[in-house]
Amino acid sequence: MIVASPKSITELKKIIADHKKVLFVGCGTCVTVCLAGGEREVGIASYAMRMARKLDRSPIEIRQVTIERQCENEFIKDLAGPAAEVEAIVSFGCGAGVQAIAERFPAIPVYAGLNTQFLGVLEEQAIWTEKCLGCGDCMLAQFGGICPVTRCAKRLLNGPCGGSLESRCEVDSDRPCAWQLIYSRLKSIGQLDRLEEIIPPKDWSHAWYCGARKVVRKEHQVK
Ligand code: SF4
Ligand code: SF4
Repeated sequence: MIVASPKSITELKKIIADHKKVLFVGCGTCVTVCLAGGEREVGIASYAMRMARKLDRSPIEIRQVTIERQCENEFIKDLAGPAAEVEAIVSFGCGAGVQAIAERFPAIPVYAGLNTQFLGVLEEQAIWTEKCLGCGDCMLAQFGGICPVTRCAKRLLNGPCGGSLESRCEVDSDRPCAWQLIYSRLKSIGQLDRLEEIIPPKDWSHAWYCGARKVVRKEHQVK
């Protein structure tokens, strides 16, 4: 899932300081699951913002709507009614959702209510960890399903670096050494021989360095 965290009310207050009638929009998918931008979080942020503005003697009217997914026009179109009645929109979706809403409503300011962080998983209650950088050329088969591009601090494809101590990463001992994990995993699935192969430099042309990417799947297009 896409993992995000809420912006502080102080920061958000500054962002919407010029507006008196605002729509707070939640997203019912990833950011609901990571407890950042679903219906409940939008409710809490709206309440906190109303209180903060009241204390500043600059009251604000906030409408709240949560749609299924902010990254699909099919759902964004449901915002047309409420959006017509406000001066600005705060999206509690990921960065893609914020931009999708902004494209749909070009005459209304649209602001991000969250800090979008990474593609990750729920590790344990209230702890999410990053697992994928979306490099566009997945090599997980080679590494026993553990991504060194994301999880090794040096992004080594031919690790380990030699600095690991007690299976922890030398760059940050809070993290496990990704290459220790790769070794253990390959051992447990009987694929240690994969480590004998020297991996050539990765082809980064599918990654984000060349600007925004696009996926076109012609077989699913309806003409
Ligand atoms: S190799 Fe690339 S696509 Fe695969 S998990 Fe790692 S960053 Fe993600
Ligand atoms: S200690 Fe392990 S995870 Fe950390 S940089 Fe070295 S190989 Fe990568």
